[in-house]
Amino acid sequence: MERVWDPFELVRAQMVDEQLVRRGIADARVLGAMRKVPRQLFVDEALRGRAYGDHPLPIGEEQTISQPYIVALMTELLELSGREKVLEIGTGSGYQTAVLAELARRVCSIERLPRLAERARALLEQRGYTNVWVRVGSGTLGWPDEAPFDRILVTASGPAVPPPLFAQLVEGGRMVVPIGDALNQVLTLVEKVRGEMKTRECGECKFVKLVGKYAWEA
Ligand code: SAH
Repeated sequence: MERVWDPFELVRAQMVDEQLVRRGIADARVLGAMRKVPRQLFVDEALRGRAYGDHPLPIGEEQTISQPYIVALMTELLELSGREKVLEIGTGSGYQTAVLAELARRVCSIERLPRLAERARALLEQRGYTNVWVRVGSGTLGWPDEAPFDRILVTASGPAVPPPLFAQLVEGGRMVVPIGDALNQVLTLVEKVRGEMKTRECGECKFVKLVGKYAWEA
């Protein structure tokens, strides 16, 4: 790809150092991807100046793009080597999807709101990603035709791990999912060990609602 000057390069490098490295994100591949993906393109033009702030931002339809640190933390917890097939639930802006596409073999992403899905799909295509599939659908059911997945990332929070998602995870696979109610949520790492669910709590977080059959009602 031709290298064009990006006026946000410096502020992006600063975000990586101050918000990610300083808080303990250590995976060099994750840091590299977040130094590369132009986050400002995934928010509304009027919000571009705040794209690298230490907070989430609105993306329309009452949804948000996650805080950079949370994107980095969830991605690091997935432990991606580059060979994985990843399922993402909640495409939203497509920013997290782009970070995953930099780090995995193939990314299948599901978004329930058609307008967000269309915008993210167009942007990801424009950025040249050929290993990403975005689909409109009900994410708590997973993507049976593409299963199983080596990794699953859910970027909206539900009351529990949706059973179809755990079923679509490979043996030895990892899933990262925020679990809790509207007020209190815990970022949860789920591993499939001999078919059983092993979970580890990785800190508090706050996400928009996961809506669907195995989560909250619309
Ligand atoms: N990773 C996104 C975060 C978007 S917010 C980003 O960085 O921009 C969470 C997204 O999950 C919202 O767009 C919301 O519409 C979507 N969502 C909620 N429930 C869903 C479901 N059951 N299936 C698919 N997407 C869902």
